[in-house]
Amino acid sequence: MQSFKEKDKQYIANTYGRFDVEIVSGKGSLVYDINGREYIDLSSGIAVNTLGMADDAWANAVYEQLKKCQHTSNLYYSEPCVRLAEILCTRTGAKKVFFGNSGAEANECAIKVSRLWGAQNKGSEYYNIITLKNSFHGRTITTLSATGQDVFHKDFTPLTEGFLYGEANNLESIEKLLLENKCCAVMMELVQGEGGVLALDTDFVLGVSKLCEKHNTLLVIDEVQTGNGRSGELYAFQVYGVTPDIVSTAKGLGGGLPIGACMMFDKTENVLTPSSHGSTFGGNPIACASAVHVLNRIDNELLGEVKKKSKFIFEELNGADGIVSVSGLGLMIGIETVGDVSVILKKCMENGILPIKAKNKIRLLPALNIPMELLIKSIEIIKKVASENK
Ligand SMILES: *Cc1c(COP(=O)(O)O)cnc(C)c1O
Repeated sequence: MQSFKEKDKQYIANTYGRFDVEIVSGKGSLVYDINGREYIDLSSGIAVNTLGMADDAWANAVYEQLKKCQHTSNLYYSEPCVRLAEILCTRTGAKKVFFGNSGAEANECAIKVSRLWGAQNKGSEYYNIITLKNSFHGRTITTLSATGQDVFHKDFTPLTEGFLYGEANNLESIEKLLLENKCCAVMMELVQGEGGVLALDTDFVLGVSKLCEKHNTLLVIDEVQTGNGRSGELYAFQVYGVTPDIVSTAKGLGGGLPIGACMMFDKTENVLTPSSHGSTFGGNPIACASAVHVLNRIDNELLGEVKKKSKFIFEELNGADGIVSVSGLGLMIGIETVGDVSVILKKCMENGILPIKAKNKIRLLPALNIPMELLIKSIEIIKKVASENK
């Protein structure tokens, strides 16, 4: 009989390099593979399972909605969708929300709103958007184009025109692009996740915000990965203290169900008009009920825990044997090791923990509510593995 792994290779498009583990169940931050082996989950499905695996209260919230109504289309009013938008606006200062189903779609909306705003306020030739080198904004042709990494562009050209790449933490490079091109927006992640978990300098972020004001250009923050409590605040822009014009988010918003949101602030709230954008599944009641529950659980107490756990990880790993550097923000952490990252990852798995990779780093994205004792155990294992494999 064919094994599952062989069938995966036969039937699934070959786009992912998978770890040799099949997770079948879990509870919180403990997950179990097909052989019943227990692991501590340190990536929560790439920053998606905000409350860990199969959280009881979350599952109930989803199930209650599932029994009532799973989908209606955007041709009708739907309460979960409105409740979610109200929570997002109240807690961020945003004025309006558009719902899609993924990070890429949230960014597509942010890009469309930026261009539309440019056309409405500056002229249709002001379509350029500045993004950063080493950024990641998604896999659709336009969000790939926004992504400032050549490796992702290769063989997919021609890409969507109108993206210019500035240098992270280099204000002059951003101002030069703003001066030499007709721009509608600067779009950036505050912590470059896929780029190696690099948090932007506060001075740079505040500087970009000022430049955007000076040049009448929108500030768009991609919070697909940094959002929904991961940074220690609900959104990372609140950590940096900037006021964005558009914020996109997804990953952790639904706590495991697919949902993305594009939030529009004062300058952009009335840019979208009927039929300028849309999505069949966007605002789906199940995904929205799920996200309402997740956001209500991300209260000050949980955010305080995120900060405390983050501090603990930085303190434990900074300067530890076999560890070169620790980067990131909140519970979005990159660890550069002396030893080869693939070897370290494999050893971590053998020791019962499941971190992932970002570039040449070990990346930690645990559930926000990972119990402290599991985190302590995981960090001990990482230290041991890093020290033994340098
Ligand atoms: C993951 C990610 C995306 C893409 O999200 P998808 O849901 O995979 O489309 C976009 N931007 C950032 C910063 C991300 O981390």
